Amino acid sequence: PIINIGSINIDYVYRVPHFVQPGETLASQTLSKGLGGKGANQSVAIAAAGGHVQHVGQVHQSDVWAVEQLTAAGVGTDAIQLSSEASGHAIIQVDDAGENAIVLHGGANQTLKPDTVSSVLTQHSEAACLLLQNECNLLADSFAIAHELGVAVVLNPAPMTQDIIDLPLHLLDTLIVNQGEAQGLTGEIAIDDVVRTLRDRLPNTRLVITLGAQGALLAHSGKILECAAEHVTAVDTTGAGDTFVGYFLAGVVAGLSDQDSLARACLASAIAVTRSGAISSIPTLDELSRYKN
Ligand code: ADP
Repeated sequence: PIINIGSINIDYVYRVPHFVQPGETLASQTLSKGLGGKGANQSVAIAAAGGHVQHVGQVHQSDVWAVEQLTAAGVGTDAIQLSSEASGHAIIQVDDAGENAIVLHGGANQTLKPDTVSSVLTQHSEAACLLLQNECNLLADSFAIAHELGVAVVLNPAPMTQDIIDLPLHLLDTLIVNQGEAQGLTGEIAIDDVVRTLRDRLPNTRLVITLGAQGALLAHSGKILECAAEHVTAVDTTGAGDTFVGYFLAGVVAGLSDQDSLARACLASAIAVTRSGAISSIPTLDELSRYKN
């Protein structure tokens, strides 16, 4: 399987006339509650793409429903543990202009235990790869243990933080970044400079950069592959990057070429932006083939 050590969040989305001001108590018009977190989204996308994924993470013991929802989506959940910490959650205000303001509490995502991570990885040393984002603790440790076991590591450093730069990124099998993350990693602005800097620094790593409505590019062993985005009407880009990561990785692990994996990831993420929500917007492989016909 693909092992994904990743966040599981509960998103609380409050519709408000305007963002709450200091000292103000503001009534929300509606509340919707759903499963999210980059880790969970990417596991669901891998499963939707037909991949085999084992998710490693934690939620509060009262949130078994979140684990059940992942299981129902086809994600392996044996390595998800129940914790006494609050589940990771986001309090999201969406105003009348469609802008959002978010308070994020890492909670159980930030209290993964070293023993859990090392025992899961040791148990799965035959794994196709380890997928990591940047919403859980033990990122450097997970990377180091997997590398020692000879498991290929795939990193999507979202959200980008300074400590990502200190990781031994040249040991990565694959790095998947959006434009902002790529710029944050390199300090370069122009995409050509970003690509050149990352290729110099990570010569053996498969480098994938997503470019929003411009599609995506992949640089590996001297070659650059490009994929134009589908022309779609974007409704909600939440989860586009996660859909891309899950589909791309599932493609590579299933033995598709880099070009075909890229094309499938671009198509899946384009479909995702035409729908609202994150997990709810991830298309199935069937939907991809219907879209193309
Ligand atoms: P993130 O969601 O992490 O910010 P991007 O904005 O780069 O990442 O989007 C990820 C992928 O989603 C892109 O590579 C592209 O394939 C697809 N995508 C995003 N926005 C659009 C859009 N407006 N039209 C078509 N595809 C899109």
